[in-house]
Amino acid sequence: MSFNSLGLSKALLKAVEKQGYTTPSVIQEKAIPLILEGKDILASAQTGTGKTAGFTLPMLQILSQGQQLRKRPIRALVLTPTRELAAQVHANVKSYSEFIDIRSTVIFGGVNQRPQVSTIRRGVDVLVATPGRLLDLQNQRLLSLSNIEILVLDEADRMLDMGFLRDIRKIIDLMPNKRQNLLFSATFSKEIKKLANEFLSRPVLVEAAPQNTTVDAIEQKVYRVAKDKKTGLIIKLISDGNWKQVLVFTRTKHGANRLCQKMVAAGITASAIHGNKSQGARTKALAGFKNNSIRVLVATDIAARGLDIPLLPHVINFELPNISEDYVHRIGRTGRAGAKGEALSLVCAEETSYLKDIEKLVGLKFPVEIIEGFEPDPNASTKPIKRGQGGGGGNRNSGNRKSNDSKKTTTRGFGAKDPKHDKKRRSKKRRF
Ligand code: AMP
Repeated sequence: MSFNSLGLSKALLKAVEKQGYTTPSVIQEKAIPLILEGKDILASAQTGTGKTAGFTLPMLQILSQGQQLRKRPIRALVLTPTRELAAQVHANVKSYSEFIDIRSTVIFGGVNQRPQVSTIRRGVDVLVATPGRLLDLQNQRLLSLSNIEILVLDEADRMLDMGFLRDIRKIIDLMPNKRQNLLFSATFSKEIKKLANEFLSRPVLVEAAPQNTTVDAIEQKVYRVAKDKKTGLIIKLISDGNWKQVLVFTRTKHGANRLCQKMVAAGITASAIHGNKSQGARTKALAGFKNNSIRVLVATDIAARGLDIPLLPHVINFELPNISEDYVHRIGRTGRAGAKGEALSLVCAEETSYLKDIEKLVGLKFPVEIIEGFEPDPNASTKPIKRGQGGGGGNRNSGNRKSNDSKKTTTRGFGAKDPKHDKKRRSKKRRF
């Protein structure tokens, strides 16, 4: 299958070629023709499947073929859960629209609204937005959604997890009833199906397998270690292995900061990425990680969500997540071009019950290793860590669950509702 047979215009094919893509991914192959036919779609696709081009390319084609109004009202809206994802999607829209006359912009909170507003005033065809800032500007009557022809909900499950359902409904109410709707979600929970029933019109179901890595292809290992020796152990593992690009997960923002500082003190370049970091700092950290100037990226679950983090040889759980599905999301970042990746978890006594839950969810028993000098504490209690508290040294302030990084529900991620049902999904392969 080549891109030429998908029904895309020459200008879009040229943009695709410029990106260096030769074959469409599964989601692109399935979704592009359907979207071009004007169908509503309900697509199951994760980050990494090529979903962004899957909806952006046909959307751009429809817009560029449609009637161009002089004032350029917003004709397509892409809603995303996070700022990072919004920025990434917009970067994609920009690249793919290089050879057509389509203008786009992105809006999200946490930055000054003025430049966003003035771009919108000058006229844009495509708006990529997070729900909060969109409603904010709409409430100030600074934008109108009354000309929307295409609505994309990207990572709809995340949006629901983050509590955006009411905002989404409000936003939909501001649009004409007659429009094309494209809903992308990594998981199909009951809530997603309900949302789809509410506003999609006779949608076609499109499924794409995630990632070129499977849970089975990832080597998963547990290091049993005393809580106060975790930092020493992780530094040893990264230094001894001379690992270059390591994604480390902590449970809290404070934990991420603290670990990052200790890594830097040990001579390992590291950056933290979490909800308390400014947009600029997050973008910079991710860029540094991608271009190898930063060896270790320490992230919280929500901050890592939806980010275009490359597949990596090493993912380390400095602390296990208390929501087992998050583990599967975390390690889904492991592997590279079909090669085996390694997902390591540093587990102290208090995390024993989390480990059991995770092993149950993924249906595996992980091999356990103990490194001399970093043994677990035989006297430590196995009582679970209080919700929201980080391990690795403890921090009284780290139990703050109110912030953005902490909005969790139990219906997130792989197999959130029914682990058995999702087993198939977990073991699917990435297509490119
Ligand atoms: P996405 O799932 O949209 O976040 O895309 C994941 C990554 O795959 C991005 O870095 C895209 O640039 C890249 N990508 C998208 N489509 C293709 C394709 N057909 N061939 C190779 N890479 C692609």
